[in-house]
Amino acid sequence: MSNVYFTNFVSKGHNDSIYNKINKIYSVCCIDKILQEGDITAVKIHFGEKGNTAYINPTYVKQIIDKVSEKSVYPFLTDTNTLYSGERNNSVKHIRTAIENGFAYSVVNAPIIIADGINGKNYAEETVELKHFKKVKIAGEIYNSNSMVVLSHFKGHEIAGFGGAIKNLAMGCAPQIGKKEQHSTLKPLTKPSRCTGCRQCEKVCNHNAISVKEKVKIDKDKCTGCGECILACKNGAIKMNWKTDIDEFLERMAEYAYGAVKNKKGKVAYINFIMNVTPLCDCCSWSGIPIVNDVGIAASFDPVALDQASYDLVNKQQGNKMSDLESNYEPGEDKFKGLNSEINAQHIMEYSEKIGLGTRKYNLIII
Ligand code: SF4
Ligand code: SF4
Repeated sequence: MSNVYFTNFVSKGHNDSIYNKINKIYSVCCIDKILQEGDITAVKIHFGEKGNTAYINPTYVKQIIDKVSEKSVYPFLTDTNTLYSGERNNSVKHIRTAIENGFAYSVVNAPIIIADGINGKNYAEETVELKHFKKVKIAGEIYNSNSMVVLSHFKGHEIAGFGGAIKNLAMGCAPQIGKKEQHSTLKPLTKPSRCTGCRQCEKVCNHNAISVKEKVKIDKDKCTGCGECILACKNGAIKMNWKTDIDEFLERMAEYAYGAVKNKKGKVAYINFIMNVTPLCDCCSWSGIPIVNDVGIAASFDPVALDQASYDLVNKQQGNKMSDLESNYEPGEDKFKGLNSEINAQHIMEYSEKIGLGTRKYNLIII
């Protein structure tokens, strides 16, 4: 059983600010035991797509950076370039977007280094010898860092069901080619009868896989399964193919997550911000209405226990009927199933436990 430390957002005065809660959970969880003087420490985060506003507030990140820096280490904020078009698919655009979203040095007290290089080609191979992959590709500067603090915004996700610490390791620490390997089983379906020929999907496909003459057509050989076109089509003419194996996609992510931390035994800590629990991920250039009220902050050294506890904490809440939740509004009901009944989102935690990334059994320590 792994310990998961948790603080909610109930405040009873100025000593109870979210800043104080972050400092407290960092100290009570003893996160600095993963750090050694002189470490170059990756602080893994998602900076948010341009237009998204639900990502972790940079002023919260500053609290963590200041705590980490007390141990005489060299922290840097990091993420990897995206597979899809947008404002983070090369390092120049990525850093520019991060700064525009508030992650300037003057705010966060740490530099930004995009871990897979200017064009996503900087990576190392890690041997995992698992069911789907013998080796996985991990972004070079994450692989090379001595220790890592993984900050994750816990929320829904259009394909994975939810996004938390495991997904942040899996997709978040992989270069573009590694992201492709994880997505490779997913190919969207088209419904030409709904297509108006507007060509929005063609514009967002970074892989030249879409052609629209009168109606949309997808070249399955070129398609990486990134899912960007599904989000772009407002007419429902491109859909996820739920018959493709979503479970296998989740297993592929779990194997990548395992590989991302394999060379850092005892050197990684995880903090989930269970707030702004939006239906979709922060890669979207918008943020929907949260499905539940803000829940709190949880921390652990076990990403599986942390995600399981975060998942359960969200499900204990009353669902928001103004949000995209379609069912399961009552406390105790599965909110992520209420967002998308086709996805067995908990499979990623089951499989992560099976391969030894962590355990789903947790001891929730409320501070
Ligand atoms: S975005 Fe949708 S409606 Fe527009 S061309 Fe693509 S598939 Fe057709
Ligand atoms: S066609 Fe494939 S590669 Fe292109 S945006 Fe859609 S899912 Fe991504």
